[in-house]
Amino acid sequence: MVHHLSQNGSAILNVESLVKKYRDFTAVDGISFQIRNGETFGLLGPNGAGKTTTMRIISGLSPLTEGRVDVAGIDVSKSGREARNIIGVVTQHDGLDNQLTVRQNLEVHGYLVGLSRRAARLKTQEVLQFFNLEERGDVDIRTLSGGMKRRIAIARSMMASPMLLVMDEPTTGLDPQSRNRVWEQLGQLKQSGVTILMSTHYMIEAETLCDRVAIIDRGHLLELGIPEDVITRHAGQQAAIIQLNNAASDTVKSIVKEKLSQQGCSFSEIGSRIIVTAPEGERPELEAIKDLAEARVSYRPSNLEDVFLTLTGRELRD
Ligand code: ATP
Repeated sequence: MVHHLSQNGSAILNVESLVKKYRDFTAVDGISFQIRNGETFGLLGPNGAGKTTTMRIISGLSPLTEGRVDVAGIDVSKSGREARNIIGVVTQHDGLDNQLTVRQNLEVHGYLVGLSRRAARLKTQEVLQFFNLEERGDVDIRTLSGGMKRRIAIARSMMASPMLLVMDEPTTGLDPQSRNRVWEQLGQLKQSGVTILMSTHYMIEAETLCDRVAIIDRGHLLELGIPEDVITRHAGQQAAIIQLNNAASDTVKSIVKEKLSQQGCSFSEIGSRIIVTAPEGERPELEAIKDLAEARVSYRPSNLEDVFLTLTGRELRD
């Protein structure tokens, strides 16, 4: 698809010491990161972490309190309008017009971003073709499933050939099948060279789509890097799951936790399960615990959820 191209590998977004305060509450507390041209970058964090706030500021929809945000060298605080022209935004609310067809929604959006009638018509055709949505063109929005609406909203964001696409939780609320279709769509965009900033609280989504992730919590950036590197650094190659059976008393639980502490393992308790990770290592060695009658030990590959648990002691989703 036709979109602005700039030199590959150069930073297209620069976020520097970003702070956002709502009265005396600090929602974003000094976050810095850069996104390179062509990259898919994920903001990963639980509800309330500050993801939406950060993305609204980057999109020129909300003023920042302190710090600086540049998109392709444009300061969003000083030239919000200019910045908005080169950013495509997909919010959590699709904001499609139910009275119009798919094609009309795209065309109207085209006029809004400054295309002529003819250009908007041509671009709509190009966008629908690109996403294999041509046969949906004349369908009324209100008859579409939630997943299809999301795909149309993403298609619409491409009407202005943005240099940066900002998407707030693109698959939240979708069933697994629709989620897969949206992932395919985002993969297509990525392949065509579009730079994407997205937020998610699904770690699988981040692992599947993102070249790099920033893990944020309570307005702070906790980690930033390539998903596999971040996982290995904090959670090792494999995580152990200790499943305690019903016969396990609190004393047994305490013994297990004490052994883990002695071994220097990170662990978190979720009900009757204890998830154990060995930072930088292969996998936690739990020979002593395996011998306990009340405990069953199994292993699985470590993931970003483990990283979040290790860093915060909490799960990504409450
Ligand atoms: P979610 O996944 O729920 O969207 P998030 O990571 O995007 O979470 P934000 O929506 O950025 O989080 O919110 C960060 C914090 O700022 C939350 O504690 C929220 O309650 C607070 N907040 C957001 N908008 C406002 C506002 N307009 N006024 C006051 N507080 C706000």
